[in-house]
Amino acid sequence: MADKKEKLFYQQKNAYDIISDEEKKACYDYSEGYKKYLDNCKTERMSVKYSIALAEKEGFKPYVPGMDIKAGDRLYFNSRNKALFLAVIGTKPLSEGINIAAAHIDSPRLDLKPVPLYEDSELAFFKTRYYGGIKKYQWVAIPLELYGTVALKDGSTVEVSIGDKPDDPQLVITDLLPHLGADQMKKTLSEAFTGEGLNILIGSRPDKETEGSDRVKMTVMSILNEKFGIVEEDFLSAELEAVPAYSARDLGLDRSMVGAYGHDDRSCAYAGLAAILETKTPEKTAVCVLADKEEIGSEGITGMKSRSFEWFIGSLCDKKSVRLEDCFANSFCLSADVCNAFDPNYPEVSEKRNNAKLNYGTAILKFTGSRGKSGSSDACAETIGKLRAMFEKGGVIWQMAELGKVDQGGGGTVAKFMAERNIETVDAGVPVLSMHAPYEVVSKIDCYMTYKAVKALYLYNS
Ligand code: MN
Ligand code: MN
Repeated sequence: MADKKEKLFYQQKNAYDIISDEEKKACYDYSEGYKKYLDNCKTERMSVKYSIALAEKEGFKPYVPGMDIKAGDRLYFNSRNKALFLAVIGTKPLSEGINIAAAHIDSPRLDLKPVPLYEDSELAFFKTRYYGGIKKYQWVAIPLELYGTVALKDGSTVEVSIGDKPDDPQLVITDLLPHLGADQMKKTLSEAFTGEGLNILIGSRPDKETEGSDRVKMTVMSILNEKFGIVEEDFLSAELEAVPAYSARDLGLDRSMVGAYGHDDRSCAYAGLAAILETKTPEKTAVCVLADKEEIGSEGITGMKSRSFEWFIGSLCDKKSVRLEDCFANSFCLSADVCNAFDPNYPEVSEKRNNAKLNYGTAILKFTGSRGKSGSSDACAETIGKLRAMFEKGGVIWQMAELGKVDQGGGGTVAKFMAERNIETVDAGVPVLSMHAPYEVVSKIDCYMTYKAVKALYLYNS
């Protein structure tokens, strides 16, 4: 009775068994733009800069508080060069709500400490403080690049980038040779690789003119001074971030996947950005949020907890004499963030029926959190119901997911901070293999379907 099964059972299908050849091609074409985005956006600051450049090409203008706004206007608000809000003003009044896609552009990495530079045994190093959830053993013996901003006392800033050009030098954290690793191998992973052990090797040549100690440190500081005009004290007011020096590449013999650093959450950031750049004049105002600081709990002035979001949307509402509270109460937010994809190498952490699978489309998470949904936003059934309708209209291939099996661990996103604003919110995003590793894996179809999911929100949630 195949018909009866078809009628009554929920059956998930691999996206490759559903999509047309044209749409498969669209997925693969989309990934070309995404790979470029990844290579140009290794940090939140780089993401803001590159996203603004793309937006300006599509007619987006910087938002100035108090400026007149009308349907069809394309605006962006740059929040301290580390977060970005984009909006296309709709025909409906803001009191009827806005459609928001909120992704984040910070990724796990190694930040330099305020006093990072030192020499030991005639080698120069940077001390680091890791940012976000990392497995420390993954960050040793891989090539690293360094990006960031140094703020000087005169109010000017210096942009630092080491490693982005093909002939630039790279940096590394050393590991022990296996020949001498007997004691190391007996330790647990967290004991063998400590936070204070993640020191980046940056030089080995002593400065000839310097006498006594710190001659290698002098060589390195001289190079930094020559290249960027900074002195050691300037590190005190700097944000310098070491990230994996991998460029985004097709992965697999069939090129069905993309391997890169930072899919969490640039796969969703790019999806939101690509969708809003194509949005003409929607009914409800479309908003794309590229937030910072998600990996450390959405804290800080550029994180999703910050009222900079109220400042931007509230300012639009003021202009139209709409209460911000009314706007939020009628708004809808796709918290666009990645989740884990089922990994047959580690099946024990997932419950197969409810874990996202690669190539099954964008993953909707009703709840995240850990244990008994603790720390989760847990979207209403009605909210998921609305999504089902939107996605059907938009031809989105999607799947329901949860992050690992019960009591295995868990995680959170910006969802609960949007829900706190009385905005109807649900998590949706790209399933990732090796999530939070220096080199993560996603499926091209899942990335494209996340972009289509945001488009469906902007077009059909009216
Ligand atoms: Mn994330
Ligand atoms: Mn993350």
